[in-house]
Order: sequence, then structure tokens, then C-alpha cells
Amino acid sequence: MKGFAMLGIGKTGWIEKPRPACGPLDAVIRPIAVSPCTSDVHTVWEGALGERENMILGHEACGIVDEVGSLVRDFKPGDRVIVSAITPDWGDINAQRGYPMHSTGMLAGWKFSNFKDGVFAEYFHVNEADANLALLPDDMDPCTGVMICDMMPTGFHAAELADIQYGDDAVVIGIGPVGLMAVAGCALRGAARIICVGTRPKCRKAASIYGATDFVSYKEGDIADRILDMTSGKGVDKVCIAGGTADTFAQAVRMLKPGGIIGSVNYLGSGDCVKIPRVEWGCGMSHKTIRCGLMPGGRLRSEKLAALVRAGRVDPGLMITHRYHGFEHMEEALLAMRDKAPELIKPVVCID
Ligand code: NDP
Ligand code: ZN
Repeated sequence: MKGFAMLGIGKTGWIEKPRPACGPLDAVIRPIAVSPCTSDVHTVWEGALGERENMILGHEACGIVDEVGSLVRDFKPGDRVIVSAITPDWGDINAQRGYPMHSTGMLAGWKFSNFKDGVFAEYFHVNEADANLALLPDDMDPCTGVMICDMMPTGFHAAELADIQYGDDAVVIGIGPVGLMAVAGCALRGAARIICVGTRPKCRKAASIYGATDFVSYKEGDIADRILDMTSGKGVDKVCIAGGTADTFAQAVRMLKPGGIIGSVNYLGSGDCVKIPRVEWGCGMSHKTIRCGLMPGGRLRSEKLAALVRAGRVDPGLMITHRYHGFEHMEEALLAMRDKAPELIKPVVCID
């Protein structure tokens, strides 16, 4: 079969590989809609995971089940499914501790385009199909379904990590597709004010629809100073981070009230250390909390998010700005995600 791969750091192209084998608990899926992620960009062009040779890229896909193992109960060939970007080993002890994303090791629930071939291929393998697939609702467009693989669960995880409560003043740093879903998550959890950091007009417009109340540009001075000004020097209750760099944490700590919480899902593609400013950290006694995480993944989360979409509470499909038809456009879609033109939020490739 054909797959679109990372050939090495900074290099991509089509390669041939054998169709994956299906274990007794597993499934083999034929994708019908896939989307490149900023994480693919960090992986290929920043070498964030280190060297990877001939690894098929991609971790966001809806597809049709082609084969299931003998022990799979709830899925059969022909089913249309949403495949979670994170596919944990649910029996692992870290999953039992409440951290499925770290099952079998740090970040090891993130298998596609990390520890094994990803979804930009004619076929791909899913471990523990009953626990990691969800049925795509009959009335849901697969392109909208693709937003439930990673963007929605990750953005919502930022709002969960920040423990957004009714009436909170929140900041969302970064309003690409992940940050936009963090905005929607903050709004659904009851935040009062949602100040968004990001500049692309298309993203700002979408953020307003999802619940943003104010905007700040990181290109026009220090965002912590700006947000302290906007809150009469008090700062905010919660900060979600879905963009920026290792230095963004220092700004987030500065803009937080004592006892505030930072929820970050940002993937730090470069830099060795994260610095925390000592004084704004209360000389170590501020009760400010930093929580960072890979999203949990799995079937239940996909089903719940699909239910929210079907109930009309949030429409992640609004983020799809570029639709390509046919696998031959895979490279174009990935480069669009890398180059982030002003009118881009999220590209999707439909495989008809
Ligand atoms: P985008 O690149 O589309 O968006 C990034 C956002 O950050 C934009 O709004 C951008 O503003 C803003 N930004 C850029 N530089 C700065 C800065 N210096 N300070 C503040 N804001 C800045 O990214 P995505 O939404 O696709 O992804 C966000 C992050 O989430 C990525 O690192 C991605 O790898 C990670 N991720 C994490 C996952 C997890 O499970 N934890 C899963 C999936 C993704 P502008 O409008 O100017 O472009
Ligand atoms: Zn992703």
C-alpha cells in the first residue's frame, strides 16, 4: 500500500509499505477523511520527536473498518468510524492510574506517527478497536468527524486541565484549531470572560463564534502586561495554552491570580527548559498550578464529543477552511498546515 511519510527530518514523500496486519483485538481501517496537524509539522520540520525514517505521518482520520480481529465485539467491516488520535493500551497500569495517554510509557498512548505508522495511508492499524474507535454518527460529515479525533479532545483538555469554573476569567493563548476548541471548552464549562491571544483574522472570527470576549496580539507588546492592564492589575483565574513557545509559560504565570491554574496542551517543539519567573511565582509560594497534558484519547471521549456536536452545542466543522479531494493532495494539505496562510484554520483531505 501507499503512505505519505516522513523520510527524515525536513523530508516527506510517498512510500510503499505492506498493509498492516490485524491482531485479535485490533482493526485495520481505510481512511475516508484525514487532516494534517501542527504536531505533524513539529515532528517533520522541527525534529521534535527526534529522527524518524520512513514513518507514515498523520493521526487524525475517520474511516471505514476494513478488518477486525477475532476478539473485537462492537465493530465490523463496513462501519464508519472516528479514530481517536491517541489510542491507549487500556489494560496498562498507567491507564488504570487515570493516565491512558501515558499507557506503557510517557506519551506512549500517542502511537500514530510517533511509535508506529500513521493514518496518511491506504490502510492503517488501530490497537484495541473496541476501546479506541467510535461510530461516526450517520448524519455526521466525516470531515467534521475528523475534528473529533484530536482538535476537539485536545482543546477541551486544555479547559479541563485549567479546571474552568462558572464565572472564571480565562485567557486562551493561541487560537489555532486547538486553541479555538479550548475557547469552546471554556465557554461550555461556564467561563465569564475569555480573552484570546492570536492574530489571524479568520481565527479571531471563529473564536468570537466559540465564545471569545476580548483579543490580544502577541505581536504588539508583552501579553502578560496587556492582560494585567485589562484586568486592573488583578490577573485572571485560569490560562489555557495552545500556542506560543517555552517562554509563554512565564507570561502565563505572570498574568495569573494567586491560586490560579494553567492548563497547557501546547507541544513544545524546541528549547531545552521552561523558565518560571520567581517573583510572580510568589517566591515559590503562589499556589499557582501548571498542568500540562497530552489528551486522553479513547472511545468514550470521542462518543461524548460527537454527542455534543450532534446536540448543536459546538460546531467544530466551522474550523475547516480548506477541503482537498483525493490522497494526491496530501502534501499540499500538510504544507498548508506548515505555512499557515492568514485564511487557514484547518485543512481536511477527503478520500472519496
Ligand atoms: P496553530 O499554529 O494553528 O495555532 C497557534 C496559535 O498560537 C495561533 O493562534 C498563533 O497566533 C498563536 N501564537 C503563535 N506564536 C505565539 C506567541 N509567541 N505567543 C502567543 N501566541 C502565539 O496551532 P494548533 O492550534 O494546530 O496547535 C496548537 C498546539 O497544540 C501545537 O503545539 C500542537 O502541536 C499542539 N497539540 C497538542 C496536542 C495534545 O494532545 N497535547 C494534540 C494536538 C496538537 P496567530 O494567529 O498569529 O497565528
Ligand atoms: Zn494532532
